[in-house]
Amino acid sequence: MGTVARVVVVTPDEENAHHAIEQAFATIKHLESLMSDRDPNSQLSYVNQHAFAEPVRVDDAVFEVLIASLEYSRLSEGAFDITIGPLVQLWRTEQSSGIAPSAAAVARAKELVGWQNLILDPSQKTVRFAQEGMKLDLGAIAKGYAVDKALEDLWQLEMSGAMVDIGGNLRCYGKAPRGSRHWRIGLQDPRKDENTVLTLTMDDVAVATSGDYRRFALVDGKSFSHIINPSTAQSAQALSSVTIIAPTAMQADALSTAITVLEEQKGLQLVNAIKGVESILIKEGVFIMSKNADKYIIRRSHNN
Ligand code: FAD
Ligand code: MG
Repeated sequence: MGTVARVVVVTPDEENAHHAIEQAFATIKHLESLMSDRDPNSQLSYVNQHAFAEPVRVDDAVFEVLIASLEYSRLSEGAFDITIGPLVQLWRTEQSSGIAPSAAAVARAKELVGWQNLILDPSQKTVRFAQEGMKLDLGAIAKGYAVDKALEDLWQLEMSGAMVDIGGNLRCYGKAPRGSRHWRIGLQDPRKDENTVLTLTMDDVAVATSGDYRRFALVDGKSFSHIINPSTAQSAQALSSVTIIAPTAMQADALSTAITVLEEQKGLQLVNAIKGVESILIKEGVFIMSKNADKYIIRRSHNN
């Protein structure tokens, strides 16, 4: 998925551990092969090519992610939108060329974005586009979904504890390694990769961070984040880092992107309205926490 995946298991038997880890990676690879928009042979690419001409039947896993995506679009009033594909493609060209797209190209791509034009039929498990030229991009949700599914495997294989991390989308359960009472997660400084600004303590919970510091396009010395506000077609970069703590990794992944677009005020409103979800935002070096985020924080570095 264009990033690093890490699987940790806690179990007394080393052979079982290796078997379980292999299974978790096989699940992640399988989901990638279904949901990647870069792989021309993925099911998602097939949907992107054919779903305007006719309804396309998809795998249960893909359908589950599409249904959840529409739910997050509704919840965030369109800040989260997997039909963002045409705008993301312009952004990727900008990233590789260093040249900003023309206003006309942005306007054309923006016309193709709109979650209301994604039609899902739960009885047939089919996907259809109401508008020609639409393109789905699951970059903001599929990693979280894959983390949940890989963790489910490890649970079924009876690991006493486990953690799965795909590019900063992670979830853990049960026994922590090396006799620790809890799992500990370091949150990176958005400006300096090597620094940890916060340490979180977690049990049976997921964490995801969206940030503008790893993936950006540089044009005329100005950087543009890969997270795009669907209503303006502009990069969302008021917040330099958005960390969401949630019951599932898919929820944390999708919400971290949605809150990046919604920004501080509306973002916190949404987080505080969802049970079991907390957020830690960083804006110009300042931390902004949701109501109960404190309970997960065990250490802050000195300069914060
Ligand atoms: P997140 O905030 O979780 O997601 C941001 C991404 O979501 C953006 O990059 C964009 O794609 C999309 N997005 C932007 N704005 C919105 C919005 N408003 N609503 C919804 N979505 C939005 N990267 C590679 O370089 N090479 C690969 O081969 C590759 N393969 C991938 C395969 C899969 C199945 C997935 C899920 C991702 C893949 N990626 C690949 C993408 C890479 O991992 C992305 O950069 C990543 O998904 C961004 O994740 P994030 O956690 O940094 O940010
Ligand atoms: Mg995300």
